[in-house]
Amino acid sequence: MTDSSRAIVWFRHDLRLSDNPALAHAARHHDQVLALYCLDEESAGAWTPGGASRWWLHHSLAALAATLDEKGVPLVLRRGPAERVVPELAEQEAVAAVYWNRRYYAWGVAADKAIKRMLGETGITAESFNGTLLREPWETRTGHGAPYRVYTPFWRAYQAAGTPAEPQRRPARVTGLVRPPASDRLADWGLLPTGPDWAGGLRAAWTPGEDAARRRLHAFLDDRIGTYARDRNRPDIDATSFLSPHLHFGEIGPRQIWHAVLAHEQAHGGRSKGSETFLKELVWREFSHNLLFYFPGIFEAPIDRRFEDFPWRQDADALKAWQRGRTGYPVVDAGMRQLWETGWMHNRVRMVVASFLVKHLLLPWQRGEAWFWDTLVDADHANNASSWQWVAGCGADAAPFFRIFNPMTQGEKFDPDGAYVRKWVPELKELPTKWIHAPWTATPQTLEEAGIRLGETYPHPIVDHAAARARALDAFDRIKRGASG
Ligand code: FAD
Repeated sequence: MTDSSRAIVWFRHDLRLSDNPALAHAARHHDQVLALYCLDEESAGAWTPGGASRWWLHHSLAALAATLDEKGVPLVLRRGPAERVVPELAEQEAVAAVYWNRRYYAWGVAADKAIKRMLGETGITAESFNGTLLREPWETRTGHGAPYRVYTPFWRAYQAAGTPAEPQRRPARVTGLVRPPASDRLADWGLLPTGPDWAGGLRAAWTPGEDAARRRLHAFLDDRIGTYARDRNRPDIDATSFLSPHLHFGEIGPRQIWHAVLAHEQAHGGRSKGSETFLKELVWREFSHNLLFYFPGIFEAPIDRRFEDFPWRQDADALKAWQRGRTGYPVVDAGMRQLWETGWMHNRVRMVVASFLVKHLLLPWQRGEAWFWDTLVDADHANNASSWQWVAGCGADAAPFFRIFNPMTQGEKFDPDGAYVRKWVPELKELPTKWIHAPWTATPQTLEEAGIRLGETYPHPIVDHAAARARALDAFDRIKRGASG
């Protein structure tokens, strides 16, 4: 027998109380709410959260538990396959309903469908909501009813559909179960690194949790949205919102951000170039989720099937040099070290380092995707896979493969004073700006004065730019010829 006064809210990528439709619904319709988080490492296989994400998850769950606690609702933690844990707990606690906000990657969708079916068979209601996106993927289709594969018409369709729904308030009242079930101890899950404390840089850079997410948003609106359009490509300036990990873990939702931007515009004379550009980036996130939903193999398989035959190289030393920020190309190395230290990298630099791996080193984009998955605090099912495919030229609406970023000119253009390189590659700190993005072109005397010994204190370039470029174009020509032959 189920008890109609009791329901489970199953938290996943929505670790917040405000604008949480599943929680709001449960609070409105049930007297007692069981808040559940299930750590399911088995269903995700290789895409279980990486090291940096696990660090974030630990702290985000601690923050969520503390906020729920203030309302008298304990967060119950369980570990194991969700398809076993959720139905078992629902039955054991005799709840009438289980609510959650949807996810969009294949194994999540499959598990949710199976759980819905299992719950239904035992007379328990299962209902899902949209807590992650401005609009569901199936709400935005082309005139022929197909999913969009190109961003610009997708953005136009979003604009034509009008203002996204308003965010929901956090429930004024939620009550926990009178006798809640036992919970795992968060500390026992081992989400935090053991051994050397590599998380020091993460701690210094970030505060996970709903309150911190809200503070980030308001700091961005107060200080940076006005200059966002001009400066967002500059890695040497803190010009962007830094909301990506908060969005990934659902500590803040896109509707909250969208409406906060609208309120800001209203108070500051209407739409500006900065706010428009920022909203467009939020819609890139929606576009990526759209691709993830309609191309469920996006993690491993290129959307453009010609790339299945691409002659990728295998080179463990080159991969290691890239991962460690020791390629000899300063802007690439700065980005990879920023990533290792803080779990985040500037978007422009992500494009440069990704292009470097795929085109200069001819290593498979999946290797880079996996490294980002392990090291990014914002490692995201939709954004990571679709961005890697975009850079590699094999995704939907991707940058063409033959457009190869030149790391020197990218550095000169977007880090004009070399401040970004000097911060993350301190061994080049004393090099005058003229050579900071290509130290091998400096005279021996300049290098000596800057305290640099190429090959010792800083590597020689791992590949020659012009030769690597020619090799990549040749490889691309081969798959093009293969496709047309
Ligand atoms: P802002 O510029 O302030 O943008 C606001 C929000 O818009 C971001 O938080 C993000 O949710 C969204 N957004 C911005 N740019 C993009 C984009 N190009 N594609 C999709 N959404 C975007 N982003 C992730 O969130 N997780 C990832 O795993 C991820 N992997 C990437 C891998 C590669 C190779 C590349 C080139 C980009 C990747 N991005 C990823 C996209 C982008 O780099 C980050 O979203 C952005 O740098 C986050 O910083 P921010 O929050 O300050 O962004």
